[in-house]
Amino acid sequence: MRICVATKNGNKLHEIKLVLPSFVELAIEDLDIDVEEDGDTFIENSVIKAIEYGKHLDEPVVADDSGLSIEALDGFPGVMSARYMDGHNYVEKMESILTLLKNSDDRSAKFICAATYFNPKTKFLLSIEGYVHGSIAHEIRGNLGFGYDPIFIPDGYDQTFGELGEEVKRAISHRSNAFKKLFDLLLKTGEIG
Ligand code: IMP
Repeated sequence: MRICVATKNGNKLHEIKLVLPSFVELAIEDLDIDVEEDGDTFIENSVIKAIEYGKHLDEPVVADDSGLSIEALDGFPGVMSARYMDGHNYVEKMESILTLLKNSDDRSAKFICAATYFNPKTKFLLSIEGYVHGSIAHEIRGNLGFGYDPIFIPDGYDQTFGELGEEVKRAISHRSNAFKKLFDLLLKTGEIG
């Protein structure tokens, strides 16, 4: 079975591939469509992406929407994770987050990923969230991964995702967690398999 991934982010694609059932072939179609991610929640945005891509491709797709949620900042940057400080690089964005947390003892945070499957032929749609809990480091550490990885320390580890690297990230990330659950449920419903 072939499922397309609605993403232009190669890092995301690798993480999704790791939890894919062996009979599913994941394909990226380089679609030149701009999808307005104007939802208030990760689920809404991943549903918007999946429906748009599914309709254009006329075949089953998976999409994700993800971000960092910081407890002491009431969930910020949340759905704004990608757009926060638009035009600035991630070192600048992370430095700004560290400044916002300068006087905070509560460093707890989580990465959230909403994963959505949509089949435009049958209109079958399924969405689920995955999480990895952790805390925000006091400084930027490591240069592996992408986005906010160098300031996020997953629970049970002393190093940031930026230091831990791909193998650990893929095993415990919010994205692996969400897509593992998504594919399990798709198998259970009989939609795939
Ligand atoms: P999206 O592409 O709209 O889902 O935006 C997700 C944004 O959240 C990314 O651009 C990153 O800033 C952040 N993000 C999501 N997942 C991760 C991750 O696994 N590591 C680091 N940053 C992430």
